[in-house]
Amino acid sequence: MKNWDELEAECLSCRKCALADTRTNVVFGDGNRQAEVMFVGEGPGEQEDLTGKPFVGRAGKLLDDMMAIIDLDRTRVFIGNMVKCRPPQNRDPLNVEQEACIGYLRSQVALIRPKIIVCLGRVAAMKLIREDFKITREHGQWFQKAGVWMTALYHPAALLRDPRKRPDTFEDLKSIQAKIREICLHTYPQEE
Ligand code: SF4
Repeated sequence: MKNWDELEAECLSCRKCALADTRTNVVFGDGNRQAEVMFVGEGPGEQEDLTGKPFVGRAGKLLDDMMAIIDLDRTRVFIGNMVKCRPPQNRDPLNVEQEACIGYLRSQVALIRPKIIVCLGRVAAMKLIREDFKITREHGQWFQKAGVWMTALYHPAALLRDPRKRPDTFEDLKSIQAKIREICLHTYPQEE
């Protein structure tokens, strides 16, 4: 298995799919490499492409606020995406692009060995939890796969478009907080 530096170097120079032709930067992912909790979105947007960092635009700011509600921040979790290069005009990543890229995410999961994976939005949930996952019906539910607890939240960009979804997401965040308290060892400091 590749170590972090080898994996990152390979990913940063990757040209395995056509998204390499239009990207500015590869967005490898960011955060705590010993995290017990991973957040996985579908792909970089414009600001992410320009900076090389995940979730730094308006949706990223909302994700920071969402994490703060349950005492999380970027030092306690790892944040990544299904595809590491921006799909043009923020379209959904194509299956062929997801297939080309999924190995990097799998390797990140193998290195981090998280206890919880939170999918951000429909595309990540359909790839990681179940092909016919319905985000409107199944957000906030828990699934166990290969010893990892998995759940999905509405994508922060969807919450920006439709604030009526926010109360549901608040409940889902509280459920994630409870799961962290139940099974994680060091995500929250002991005194909490
Ligand atoms: S999206 Fe993934 S597979 Fe495609 S070029 Fe970027 S890093 Fe490589």
